[in-house]
Amino acid sequence: MKRAIYPGSFDPVTLGHLNIIKRAAAMFDELIVLVSVNSSKNSGMFSPDERVELLRKVTDSIPNVKVDCCYELVADYARQNRAKVLVKGLRAVSDYESEIQLAMVNSKLYSKLDTIFLYTSPKYAYLSSTVVKEMARYGADLSDFVPRQIIGDIETRAHAIHGKKEK
Ligand code: ADP
Repeated sequence: MKRAIYPGSFDPVTLGHLNIIKRAAAMFDELIVLVSVNSSKNSGMFSPDERVELLRKVTDSIPNVKVDCCYELVADYARQNRAKVLVKGLRAVSDYESEIQLAMVNSKLYSKLDTIFLYTSPKYAYLSSTVVKEMARYGADLSDFVPRQIIGDIETRAHAIHGKKEK
C-alpha cells in the first residue's frame, strides 16, 4: 500500500490546498492530510481540532483521503504510520529554498522518507491561508479562495474575532 502524507497548518484549508490534495490522492493508495501543530507559529484562527473538522468536510467525497493531527515531528509520525512519502505544494521559487531544507532534515530524521513537490495550479499561486484570513477580516467574498462548504465557518469565526465587518 502506497501511503503519503500531506502536512501543513491548514488554518484554514484553501482551494490551493484542495487542488494539491486531489492530485496527490490520485497518485497514492492513501493520502493522510496532516494538521501538523507547529510550536513556532502563533495560535491560529482555528484550533488544530477545528482545522481537522474543516478538512474532513471538504475531503468527504475523496475515499482514500484521511485527515489527522500531530503534535510531534512529521518524520516521527510518518515512521509510526508507515508512510514513506511527504507531499508538498510549491507556489513560487520563494517556497523552494525552505522546503528543500525541510526535505533534507526529514530524510535525515527518517532515511526512508522522500519528499515530492507538486506545483500549484497557476490560478491558486497567490493563495495562502494568511490571504484568506485577511480577506475574511474585511468581509470579502471568499468563494474564489476556499471550498464553499466552509465559507460560513470562516465568516462566523472572523466575525467573532474581529467584530463587525471592517468594510
Ligand atoms: P499556508 O499557511 O501558507 O497556506 P500551509 O502550511 O497550510 O501553508 O501549507 C501546507 C502545504 O500546502 C505547503 O506545502 C504549502 O506549500 C502548500 N500550499 C499552500 N498554499 C498552496 C497553494 N495555493 N497552492 C499549492 N500549494 C499550497
